[in-house]
Amino acid sequence: KRTPLIAGNWKMNLDHLQSIAFVQKLAWSLEDAKHDFDSVEVAIFPPFTDLRSVQTLVAADKLSLAYGGQDVSAHDSGAYTGEISGQFLAQLDAKYVLIGHSERRTMHGESDEIVAAKVNAAIKHGLVPVICVGETAEDLEKHGQSAVPVAQLKVALEGLKADADVVVAYEPVWAIGSGQAATPEQAETVGAALRAVVAESLSADAAAATRILYGGSVKSGNIAGFMREPNVDGALVGGASLDIAEFAAIVRYQK
Ligand code: 13P
Repeated sequence: KRTPLIAGNWKMNLDHLQSIAFVQKLAWSLEDAKHDFDSVEVAIFPPFTDLRSVQTLVAADKLSLAYGGQDVSAHDSGAYTGEISGQFLAQLDAKYVLIGHSERRTMHGESDEIVAAKVNAAIKHGLVPVICVGETAEDLEKHGQSAVPVAQLKVALEGLKADADVVVAYEPVWAIGSGQAATPEQAETVGAALRAVVAESLSADAAAATRILYGGSVKSGNIAGFMREPNVDGALVGGASLDIAEFAAIVRYQK
């Protein structure tokens, strides 16, 4: 059985000092609520400059909180100004890394091929890539809902081993930051199509084990509906992950 994963993508919010206060308060909030981390895993994706602070806090207080970077270089090291190696993230005990978020695809020109190279780099350094896919409003109109995310995921998984450990995040671009989330039925339809891609590209075992998250205007008020769907195994939360009470409520969607 897949352990649900609730992940917060902070995007470019909270500096390293703010991240310390935030993580402490989030940990207290979940501890007060006696959150069972074995039944729902929690991860955060802070800016790179916060990761060392987060690592220190998680280690010192033995928090059951996973974390990772919002991007990773396709390269190991060298003359790549501004890039961050997967090795550096692994050395900070990062477990995950977001790859191919729509904001990176659109604002930083990340193609499916670049995303695939980054997925390979992440795996090489022992990180679990959270591969983000999703269609724009225009794609939706032209090609329907599943075609673009399915095509994106196929390229991202090319050449990986049959037992590769990955997470897939389905984030329709039109739902991100818009307040207009997909319906649970829409998330389920695309989630099932993406799981079929994992089965075909990797293996049936990998498809059974891979968590497929929904992202795009997730809130405490709509999370339960998504989590009832068999092919939605968690959420990638943007705006609502910056509000501790709201994020904690999303994590505790079962209660
Ligand atoms: P919102 O939750 O703010 O819509 O953002 C979703 C997202 O992009 C998470 O990666």
